[in-house]
Amino acid sequence: MLGGPGSGKGTLCSDLVRDHGFVHLSAGELLRAERDSGSPQGDLINSTILSGKIVPVDITANLLLTAMKNLGWTQKTFLIDGFPRNYDNCEGFERILGPFVNMPFMIFLECTKETMIKRISKRASESTTLRNDDNDQVLIKRFDTFHAETMPVIEKYEKEGKVQYIDANRSAPEVTQTVVNILKEHKYIQ
Ligand code: UDP
Ligand code: MG
Repeated sequence: MLGGPGSGKGTLCSDLVRDHGFVHLSAGELLRAERDSGSPQGDLINSTILSGKIVPVDITANLLLTAMKNLGWTQKTFLIDGFPRNYDNCEGFERILGPFVNMPFMIFLECTKETMIKRISKRASESTTLRNDDNDQVLIKRFDTFHAETMPVIEKYEKEGKVQYIDANRSAPEVTQTVVNILKEHKYIQ
């Protein structure tokens, strides 16, 4: 699942987990947890996040792989949120996860910049555990990275006929219902 910062990836995934038993893996959350665990990779992860850039794929793909293994991956359908978000990520996805994982399609949450900024400001003002990248300075860089590096990934999967475009400017229940219908069509939900 991809979409710009604040497009609603996390919210949609929680709804799908709650109602339909998927397993949610947020690449951003795995990176933040790895950083906060005191890992030797923590400084690199944190400085990359603060510059709005994308962490080298070996780190992210191995965190995803380990999380899947620990969750008992053979019986599960995973929602991978926020990954792969540049060409380097795509290469590593194929190399590290490709032998084990089948990605049938990508859900792309299309959202105006105005909506995304509103949602992130709300999250920043309400959250008790403020993300250190949810501020104006880093947000500008996250938007730049999204346009320069993530949009080409959408185009790559588009050429493979794998992208499901979702209008993510609507309310969370409406977005969730649209995605549920698509997952039903593809028999991921009964
Ligand atoms: N990030 C990364 N690789 C990933 C996912 C996230 O490097 O595969 C970093 C990146 O710096 C990004 C930050 O983690 O800006 C937060 O990602 P998340 O998906 O949590 O937030 P979003 O910007 O999509 O709201
Ligand atoms: Mg998120």
